[in-house]
Amino acid sequence: MTSSWKTRLGGLLLIFSSMAASGHGGHAGPGEGTPPKQPYFKGIRGDYRADEARWWKGNTHTHTWWSDGDSPPETAAAWYREHGYQFLVLSDHNRMQAGAIARGNLALHYTQWYPIEDEARAAALAIYREHFGPDWVEERVVDGVTQVRLKALDEFRGLFEAPGEFTFVPGEEITDRFESHPIHVNAVNIQDPIAPRGGETPTAIIQNTLNAVLDHGLSSGREVLAHLNHPNFRYALTVEDLVPLRYRTGEGFFELYNGHHGVENYGDGEHPGIERMWDILLAKRIAEGDGTIPYGIANDDAHRFTTWRVGKDSNPGRGWVMVRARRLTPDSIVAAMKRGDFYASTGVTLGRLERGGDTLALAVDPEPGVDYTIEFIGTRRGAELGAHPREPAPDGRASQRYDDAIGVVLKTVRGTEARYVARGDELYVRARVTSTQPHPNPFRAGDVTMAWTQPLVVAAPQGRTP
Ligand SMILES: [Zn+2]
Ligand SMILES: [Zn+2]
Repeated sequence: MTSSWKTRLGGLLLIFSSMAASGHGGHAGPGEGTPPKQPYFKGIRGDYRADEARWWKGNTHTHTWWSDGDSPPETAAAWYREHGYQFLVLSDHNRMQAGAIARGNLALHYTQWYPIEDEARAAALAIYREHFGPDWVEERVVDGVTQVRLKALDEFRGLFEAPGEFTFVPGEEITDRFESHPIHVNAVNIQDPIAPRGGETPTAIIQNTLNAVLDHGLSSGREVLAHLNHPNFRYALTVEDLVPLRYRTGEGFFELYNGHHGVENYGDGEHPGIERMWDILLAKRIAEGDGTIPYGIANDDAHRFTTWRVGKDSNPGRGWVMVRARRLTPDSIVAAMKRGDFYASTGVTLGRLERGGDTLALAVDPEPGVDYTIEFIGTRRGAELGAHPREPAPDGRASQRYDDAIGVVLKTVRGTEARYVARGDELYVRARVTSTQPHPNPFRAGDVTMAWTQPLVVAAPQGRTP
């Protein structure tokens, strides 16, 4: 947390100013000698003084025993810490790992004893005991059932966090519904839990939730963001629900890849995949709306840390974001994401990424023996953007049909470096990298590793701000 180093730095300044006030150094005459400087704060690491931005790997969507994950939060955090991530958002449904739920405008804190009532939970408890030890794991037996006390973020964060190495970013999956359709929004770097806001329509529910998170950012002084989760989960949301949402660029985020096996990332005959939904959104918001766009996120939505099955378990390690920031603090990470200074990945790492002016350029950090294809995808001005009804009408909710001129490949490069200079007739352009490397634990069998940049908005209509 920023507060800890700020507090330490504040302490340092206080000590220096009290030294000055007591005349230390100033009145020592010749020959009296000057005591050596005291080595205060040897423990502060150079990372905090680094002015160079670097890339930090993180996952913004994870579940634990605090809601419907299969493991205690320490087990989930250990997995990410051990697998090269630098930040992690534990995002349980409608609660925070501080043991807090929202009641109106209050955060209600509580203690939760988690019952070990089946074999899966017993297996997770065995892993928890093995890795964290009997001194750490708190158990009791009530009516013959073992219960485990869930620890709060502030209790366990010290096991994992280190400056420049790993930090938690507090979060929650604000879990709402429209009729029977799930509408989930992750709130990232919040201080207190936020209750679902409800609404008359899917659009209103998302808007009310987004507004609540942005208001929380204003009232708490924190850098916060909200991302819309798995729009195709039970085909709850359509493109038409999302086009009218009101937010500024940097306030709206969209999961373009979610690692949970049940979320229909790729759509079906009646529903567009979520990457295509993103293109339709970008084109319509830039050409017909106020020009503001949602940034694209990949994450795990991990629930399962004890069983590992492609297509059956929502395991960690499937999708993540790489964020370019100077410091590994929640505020710094979130501020960089709000600037769009990040990309989404399922395994491809970029060594270089430039997005600005009329140019989008990138270089892959290649793995030996792997080939890469870089595609620049966009929509040109003048593309047909109208929505057409599906016939026959689908049973449930489904986006309308849109023209194939939305989200076309504008340029393809086979290799590890590519640059796109806008001609000027594009609404936006974004890059997608596809490798020949099979994903080690894919969303769907056969997936290869990929990466997606944020869009470069090219053509801002007269009088509108991109
Ligand atoms: Zn969800
Ligand atoms: Zn989730």
